[in-house]
Amino acid sequence: MQLYKDQTLRIHNSLTGKKDIFKPINEGHVGMYVCGPTVYSNVHLGNCRTFMSFDMIFRYFKHLGYKVRYVRNITDAGHLENDADEGEDKIAKKAKLEQIEPMEVVQRYTVDFHNTLQLFNLLPPSIEPTATGHIIEQIEIIKEILEKGLAYEANGSVYFDVIKFNKDHDYGKLSGRKLEDMITNTRELTAQDEKRNPQDFALWKKAEPQHIMRWPSPWGDGFPGWHLECTAMSTKYLGETFDIHGGGMDLKFPHHECEIAQAEASTGKSPVNYWMHANMLTLNGRKMSKSTDNNIYPAEIFSGDNNILSKPYTPAVVRFFMMQAHYTSILDLSDEALQASEKGYNRLMDALDSVDTLKTGATSDFDVAAWKQKCYDAMNDDFNTPILIAQLFEAVKHINLIKEDKETISAEDREVLAGSLKAFVYDVLGIENQSMTKDDSNTLNGVMELLIDIRNEARANKDFATSDKIRDQLVELGIQIKDGKDGTTFSVN
Ligand SMILES: [Zn+2]
Repeated sequence: MQLYKDQTLRIHNSLTGKKDIFKPINEGHVGMYVCGPTVYSNVHLGNCRTFMSFDMIFRYFKHLGYKVRYVRNITDAGHLENDADEGEDKIAKKAKLEQIEPMEVVQRYTVDFHNTLQLFNLLPPSIEPTATGHIIEQIEIIKEILEKGLAYEANGSVYFDVIKFNKDHDYGKLSGRKLEDMITNTRELTAQDEKRNPQDFALWKKAEPQHIMRWPSPWGDGFPGWHLECTAMSTKYLGETFDIHGGGMDLKFPHHECEIAQAEASTGKSPVNYWMHANMLTLNGRKMSKSTDNNIYPAEIFSGDNNILSKPYTPAVVRFFMMQAHYTSILDLSDEALQASEKGYNRLMDALDSVDTLKTGATSDFDVAAWKQKCYDAMNDDFNTPILIAQLFEAVKHINLIKEDKETISAEDREVLAGSLKAFVYDVLGIENQSMTKDDSNTLNGVMELLIDIRNEARANKDFATSDKIRDQLVELGIQIKDGKDGTTFSVN
């Protein structure tokens, strides 16, 4: 279904600073590139949020009926410790530290990355290329930039000449920086520097003898600069100009600015029509940082094994929490926020579980068609998931009123409501219904019956140590037992 024909989608474009109407280069098709992870450590929760935001965007395009080619790379070489082309390669450093091969580091953390994203129910991208798999393409782009006179070789390395490029182009247009300001604000070059200007960036770095990750090139053995891989892979799979390029806000400068410069220098064309940037995640009001302990990994949230949260939360609840904020806003994670999201998630899942069997009447008290369009309007306004979720709860409110016989819904409307609710929750927001399956709940009922029997026997024998232990440990698991006049019942929080 080509739903996109009836919807006008607006996207906040970092390049124009406005919400631009989305018009793809090829009708019915979307080409989207998102900067992937540098695989030298377990994936951060903040990075998960970025990839989840683009997963939701990918899903909405698919829902609208577009054919989407979504490319998200794996950086497995060339990303140095700081942005000024200095320091060690992050992966090589980790390999040295752990005394394993760099490719073992890459393998270990690529697997962790995939497993974690799968738990969060992210769809795999259409293509997931690696930097090391595209060295030849990167060398070709360097040759083109050298031919245009916009790069220079120095001692086996090749640098992009930012000052020369800026004469006919606008270096800084994405990040809003002015080259003159950058020049006044940076240090002077020292005699050892190979660069002509501090703003120049590496396209190719000469490998020192001890450097393991190295490839032959016309300039000697070395490795590509980090910014170059994204230009090489996006151009190869999406063309010289493509629809959407996304990434975390922190990549806007220098990474994305350099990507634009490389592409414009080599092809003469502007590479991307819509630049999109996802905002960061904070923890208890502060920036997450491994060095200050204000940090939490996804696995620690799911297991509850951490000093920050009062209990474990499922991946679906965490995803729902993340979708409650707009992707361009800073989102703060805290125990209270997750608890509130868990309650909301449960209410939403209860509504989804009952929507198909709602009693129908001759008429509807709820304008389902208008509600459905409001859901689309929210998503069409730069993927506004918090507004969409507010609309979903509007539907939950009506579902509950219908259940209480305070409102009615026609059979026709019930079908539209159920279909749209499922499409937005499961397909677009990617939130899984992890409420218990029937098999699980049968097993739980059997086990609880047994425990309640044992507890009643213990109480009859005045063995209060055992009966209290059963009650208290169940409470720790989130299960409450209630003794009533008709016997003992239980409820799961
Ligand atoms: Zn990139």
